[in-house]
Amino acid sequence: MTVRLVIFGRQGAGKGTQCLNIVNTYGVAHISTGDMLRAAVTAGTEMGTKAKEVMDAGGLVGDEIINGIVAERLTEPDAEGPGFVLDGYPRTQPQAEALLNILAAADQSLDAVLNLDVPLEEVTARMKSRGREDDTDDAIANRLALYEQETRPVLDFFDAQGLLVTVDGLGSEEEVSCRLIAVINDQL
Ligand code: ADP
Repeated sequence: MTVRLVIFGRQGAGKGTQCLNIVNTYGVAHISTGDMLRAAVTAGTEMGTKAKEVMDAGGLVGDEIINGIVAERLTEPDAEGPGFVLDGYPRTQPQAEALLNILAAADQSLDAVLNLDVPLEEVTARMKSRGREDDTDDAIANRLALYEQETRPVLDFFDAQGLLVTVDGLGSEEEVSCRLIAVINDQL
């Protein structure tokens, strides 16, 4: 069985943790654009060096770069066979359209787009306590503002296609995981 998912949620909503549970349940590839960018930064590639500046300021890396990275990643065997959960992508309308084009060209489609819903005050508090290098007050405020501006419309876009399911992200890791798995099973 192939499972193709996108997970949305404000920064700090617990997407990374929940993606691990999804990966363990369905054997899909976890494709996190944030993780891939951080790996490029660590490796010191040219792309990584450029991305670092944008990431440190809490901005968004250019659509073309991100679309290219994801298109390539989706053709790797672990994503082709079992499927994938995309985390942190698509984050803008052009990225959402690019994703659907990439999938359509490979005769594939999404099973579900999950919206892990956690209120703004809660994610702000969580981010401030996790202490990642790009979690400065300014960068956090920037990223949350960008989420509303750029990413919210992407949710509406997927909702219009009947793919969006919102899941309450408050509660223990296990409670949230059970909710997500139930919703995914329902969509398959
Ligand atoms: P967060 O969810 O806290 O923003 P991520 O790990 O998803 O963390 O992303 C870290 C940074 O990487 C973002 O702030 C952004 O600069 C960049 N980034 C990640 N995914 C994308 C994307 N799809 N489009 C543009 N920039 C991205």
